[in-house]
Order: sequence, then C-alpha cells, then structure tokens
Amino acid sequence: MARPPHRAPDGSADPPSPNTMIARVSLEIALRKEFDYAIPPALAGRVEVGTRVQVPFGARHVFGTVTALAEESAHVSLKPILKIVGTQSLVTPNILKLARWMADYYCCAPEIALKAVLPEAVRKKESGWKKQWFVRALNFHGDFPRLSKRQQEVWNLIEERRELPLTELLELAETTIATVRKLEDRGLVEITAAVAERDPYAREHLLPTQPLALNPAQTVALEKIRGALEETARRPEFSGSDHSDAQTRNIKPPVFLLHGVTGSGKTEIYLQAIARALELGRGAIVLVPEISLTPQTVERFKARFSSDRGQTQVAVLHSHLSTGERHDEWHKIRQGRARIVIGARSAIFAPVQSPGLIIVDEEHETSYKQEEAPRYHARDVAVMRGQMENAVVVLGSATPSLESYYNARHGKYTLLELPERVDRRTLPRVRVVDMRQAAAKEKGGLIFSPQLREAIHQRLERGEQTILFLNRRGYATCLQCEKCGQVCQCPNCSVALTYHRAEQKLLCHICGHSAAVPAVCPNEKCRNPAIRYAGLGTQKVEDALTRLFPQARVRRMDADAMKRKDDYRRLLGDFRAGKIDILVGTQMIAKGLHFPNVTLVGIIYADLALHQPDFRAGERTFQLLTQVAGRAGRGDVEGEVFVQAFAPFHPAIQYARRHDYAGFYEQEIEFRAQLKYPPFSRVALLTLKGRNEDKVKFSAEFLRRKLEAGGEIQTPDDLEKTPPPSDACPPDLILSGPAPAPLLRAEQFYRYQIMLRTRRMSALSRALGQIVRSVSLPADVTLTVDIDPVDLL
Ligand code: ADP
Ligand code: ZN
Repeated sequence: MARPPHRAPDGSADPPSPNTMIARVSLEIALRKEFDYAIPPALAGRVEVGTRVQVPFGARHVFGTVTALAEESAHVSLKPILKIVGTQSLVTPNILKLARWMADYYCCAPEIALKAVLPEAVRKKESGWKKQWFVRALNFHGDFPRLSKRQQEVWNLIEERRELPLTELLELAETTIATVRKLEDRGLVEITAAVAERDPYAREHLLPTQPLALNPAQTVALEKIRGALEETARRPEFSGSDHSDAQTRNIKPPVFLLHGVTGSGKTEIYLQAIARALELGRGAIVLVPEISLTPQTVERFKARFSSDRGQTQVAVLHSHLSTGERHDEWHKIRQGRARIVIGARSAIFAPVQSPGLIIVDEEHETSYKQEEAPRYHARDVAVMRGQMENAVVVLGSATPSLESYYNARHGKYTLLELPERVDRRTLPRVRVVDMRQAAAKEKGGLIFSPQLREAIHQRLERGEQTILFLNRRGYATCLQCEKCGQVCQCPNCSVALTYHRAEQKLLCHICGHSAAVPAVCPNEKCRNPAIRYAGLGTQKVEDALTRLFPQARVRRMDADAMKRKDDYRRLLGDFRAGKIDILVGTQMIAKGLHFPNVTLVGIIYADLALHQPDFRAGERTFQLLTQVAGRAGRGDVEGEVFVQAFAPFHPAIQYARRHDYAGFYEQEIEFRAQLKYPPFSRVALLTLKGRNEDKVKFSAEFLRRKLEAGGEIQTPDDLEKTPPPSDACPPDLILSGPAPAPLLRAEQFYRYQIMLRTRRMSALSRALGQIVRSVSLPADVTLTVDIDPVDLL
C-alpha cells in the first residue's frame, strides 16, 4: 500500500472529523495502487473508511472503496469524489482488514480481494432496493365524494386493507390504474413508492422449533462452546485497532473441531450455540457447502430463529439467489435486522455486526476453496475472521480434513467428538465387494455385482429406497476402437471425450467441447466400424438399471440431469415422497441429505478417484465413501452399504468400511509426514499457461531459477548476518518442478506447474508476491499462484 495513512485504515468507527478532506481510494480497475481524492464539501462527514464511492479516473467514472482518510496528500489538485454508493459504509473496518490479509496471504492484488468481500449486487448499485407502488387509504374529512359503482368497489377494498401493493389491488379489483388515479384525484387515496423487500423464502411457512434435549456427548460439546462464547463476550470490546490487537494477541478465541459421525446431532449443537451467541448480544455466521444449501437446511435454521410475528432473523446468501434478493439479504445483515447468516463460501464476508460465532459445516469440503482470484479457502478465512472479531469458530465434519484434525491433535484447535448417532442408531453395515472376482465370473463390463443386484432386488420388494453412487457423469468414459486402441480425444484438452447417450454426443468435461459420435474409428488408417464404449458413467448405470429392474422407478441426479434451478429441489421432493425407488447420482447426492427410507447405498466404483495424481486422493476417497455410506439407514431400519472396488484392500476403502476415521488418519498422516505434504507443510502451486508449449516450459524454468535465487542466502548463518530481503523465500522451502500439469492441456492451453512447500507460508506468500510482480514473462504466458490449493490438476 502507499505511504502510511493519517488514520489507521482499520481504525475505529468514529465519524470522520470535518478536517479529513482527503480520501484514499482503492479502484477496481487499477491494480495495486491507491489514489487520493478530495472529499467535496457536499459530502463532508459522510465519507468513512469502507465507503463505496464513484470517482473520476481519466475520462471515466469508476467505483472504488475508501481505504483511508487523511488531512493531507502528497499530490496537489486532487479530483473530487463524485458520489457515495449507499448510505452506510459498505466495508466494515474488520472486513477491510480481512481483505488486506487475503491479498497478502493469497498473493493477489488488494482490489481483487476487496471486490470479493462485497457481492456484485451491493458493489454496483446506488440503491438496489426494489421500488413498488403502494396504494394507501387517506383519512378523509368533509363530504364524502360521489363515486361510481366501480370506484366505490375499489375504494371498499382499499379501505378494508388500508394499504396494499398497487399490482395486488389491480388484480383483486380487476380494475385499471385509471380508476385508482380517480380516487387519488378525489383525495381518498395516496399512491406512493415504497421499498419492497425480496425475501427468497417468503412463501414458506415454518413451524417454530424448540431446542431438543441433548444426549451426553452433545451436552459436553455444547457446554465447551458456550463456555468459550461467554469467555469471549467478557473480553473488552474488540475495536479492531492495532493497539487492541497487541493486547489480545495472547488470548485468541478458540477454534473447535466438532468431529461427529453423520447423524450425530452436530446441527442441533450449532443451533443451540447460536442461540447463546444471540443472548450474549452477538451474531453468527454459518457456512455450508453450496450443495448442502438445500431448503431443508435453511428451514432448520429459520424455524428455530423466527420471532413471534414469523419474522426470521436469518439471512441467506448463495449463488442461486437473484441479484435483487442478494442485495436485500445483504443489507438486512448490514443493517442488523438479520443477526444470523447462513450461506456458501462467500458468506464468510457477510457484514454481521459483532459475530460471536462462526460455524463451518462439512469443513473438509473442497468447494470452500475459490478457484479464481482471490483463491481463498473459506474455512481458513473463517479462522482468521474469528481472530479479528473475537469470535468462536466451530469447524464441523464427520470426516475432517487432515489439516484440521492434525491441528486438533496438536492443541491448536479443541477437539469435540460425537462418536455415536443420535438415539444410538447403528452405523450402516458396509460390505466391500471385490470386483476383480466378480468381473472374472461374468464376461463383459460388469456394473452390478451379484450381491448388489440381489440387495437392490430386496429393497424393491420391501418398498424401501436405494441410492447408487458413481462419481462420473455421462454414459461411457470414452469411445475406444477395439482394433487400434484409438480413443476419441478432446481437440482442446488432454482428456478423452465422454459419451453422453441421451444427447447422442461426445462431450469434454473440461472445456465443454462437443462432437458428433463417429460411426467408424476416427483413425485414418483403421476406420474400423466396431468402436465400443469403455468405462461407465451415471447414464449407463441408469440405463442398466431400467433393463435389470423394469418395474423400478429410477431417476438420475447429476449436472446433466439437473440443469434448471428447480430440478434439484423437485427431484429430492419426489424422492422423499417415495415416488422414486432408486436414485442414481454423482457426489451431488453424497452430501448431508437425510432420507429415513433409504436402507441401501451402493457405490459402483469406489476406487475411481484413488489413482488421481494428487496427494489427497486417498483422503478424498475415504471422505466420499464415509459420507455416502452415511446416507443409509437414517430411519428405523438398519442400513446396508455395498462398496464395489477393484482395489478392495486399499486403506481408504478399508477404514471407510469400518467407519474408522482415527485409523485412517493414523496411517495417512504417516505418509504425509514422510513426504512433507500438508499438514507438515503448506503448498503453493504456480501454474504457467499458454498456447505455445515450448514458451510455457521455458518460462517455467526461468521462474524456477528466480525462485531459487530468492532463496539463495537462506542458511541460518546468513540470516544472522543479513536480514532476508523481502523477496526471500523461507529457508525450509522445497521446490519441485516445473513439470507438465497432470492435465497438460486444457482449453487449448498448455500448463506447467511448480510446487512449493514450506511451513512458513506467510513468508513465502510475501516473497512470491514480490517475485510475481517483478518477473517478466512473455505476454502470452500467464502465471497463477494458488496458495493451499485443493485442485492439483
Ligand atoms: P448431523 O448434523 O450430525 O448430521 P443432525 O443434527 O442433523 O446431525 O441430527 C440428525 C437427526 O437427529 C436430526 O433429525 C435431528 O433433529 C435429530 N437430533 C439431533 N439431536 C437430537 C437429540 N438430542 N435428541 C433427539 N433428536 C436429535
Ligand atoms: Zn476439452
């Protein structure tokens, strides 16, 4: 940032003094620079740190955020701020601080980080409130005017309701605006514009729920969290200034890891902990993965925290809201009318006032990582925000990430465990089927082992439901020639095209390229008409099922089948209502759903993700299997799970079979320690992309040399003599690569990667920030920096 501002940028919320006539503004279009603007007299006293403003920039008018106020500037003749967006400052000092931390840690420009903390709907609009016309009856004095029969009818309606939206009146009275205008002329009514809030859940009528009596394990966990909430509430109010930072550095609010098997009652603990936070006068943020943001989940929170008048204190933020809805929900939070926010990743930036509790449910979910700049991990941002706001953080999961569990084992987090399902319902029995044996007995591609087939058959007879899981959509993985082995490849990416039977097309799952299905082998020299479909996807499973069990009602749930916003909701509704016998799906069905009548879960191909070139492949497989298995037997009937695998003895599969998280952790952590992978280091992944492979490769090698130079003087002795330059890499740095990315070519771009590992990521981030800014790469080669990546492909 530029030279130190006059006031601490994250200073107190005092109104700005009339002397501060200069605002430092971060503009979205100009990276890594801030500009001084004059505060014109008309706006004096209304511009604060965090205020969104529109300013002249060259010939344009652009938006920006005030990051500091000052009384003097190094520049003369400053241009004035044109106008203020919204009335309140939109970015609170703590959020501004969080954005700065993100920019530093995730190596991105501050403007990009600032942009991420405000939803588009809030950033751009002067006022995004929806104006609606209302008709209101006026108190009438004197002689009542003579009205026509029609006018009298309309008036009667208005008088009865006193006030109602114009559109509603026109509909009810089957009349036109002209008639209403006549009543207005007579002085009977008033037509005014008023703000109508868009409530995405307005039509749901929820029955309020009461806290449940907790079981012993839940009680212990809740007591710990409540104790921490009370403890943080006793601390002097966090002002967010540097001064109090220093004072409170030693008493960081605790982070809890709530490890509870699926159905162990974690959500009930969240609900009761939130209730305590509210009693203490504080707010709460609940993050759930986008995919679990089902109406079911939202309802549970709304039903618990609705007041007598049915008004809820819960705001919801996620990507399926309309722009208008998002705007309204956001401001409901900013104005303090909603004290609880539930939302996906970006809800971690919600402007909740004094959040006392931040919950990250399913904390292991990879969707918490944003895959474009700023590439932040919402769980890690949550922990950071907790520290800044003096808030207790609760991370919940049945299958915690190795990083979080490691932190809990080593005292950085506090571990809370719920080892049993509520009401002591047993975890489902998991049977692993060795597909090598099963396939040997049957010829051709085997989809269902005889055991699984029999189990499905039983469920159909008993009228119970089945979920079948395969984490690959489409019909067949690829189209392969039996004679020459040719596979149909995507012309833009280094992957095979997937056959989609319903659409009769070959599709690329990376770039979306679509091609017609060839009638003969595309290899010029071969032209064999017998090409076959290898591998399988959900479409093929669905297809095979309808042939095996013609009487069964089978439905598929994956990205292809769920194209419209409502499809997902409707399908789950049908499944719950028992209108579907067998649900086939990708990981969309693996998460957090609760279906009492599902007694069988089949995992078609468990080792699918096991052989990916990613050090987390085992962890992912374990998590997925455990979560999917958790879908079975959530009602009164005991559940059963069949896991079909070609590597049935792999630890990820075996520990998942026994629902043994700790066991899996022990063996996996050993492997991570040996190879110095997280949690024994943190990873930064640098990816270089371009259309010319040689250039990309050359640039990657050049960058590696730069990085090595950055780490050159880093022996402990050197450190004694000369303090490290700010672009020095930390001494424990492990550099690997450059190497072609596992997916070398995507969307016509070649990709090379350099992986960096260190225990001191903050230092590395700082160094990377410098190097990235100073290194000069060819114009057609781009570099991305991903800190703590979750996707290594
Ligand atoms: P999780 O979030 O761990 O998957 P939930 O909180 O959703 O578990 O609990 C699973 C089911 O058990 C829910 O229907 C919930 O209402 C119920 N439940 C939770 N705690 C209790 C309790 N103490 N007594 C009775 N039922 C409970
Ligand atoms: Zn492609």
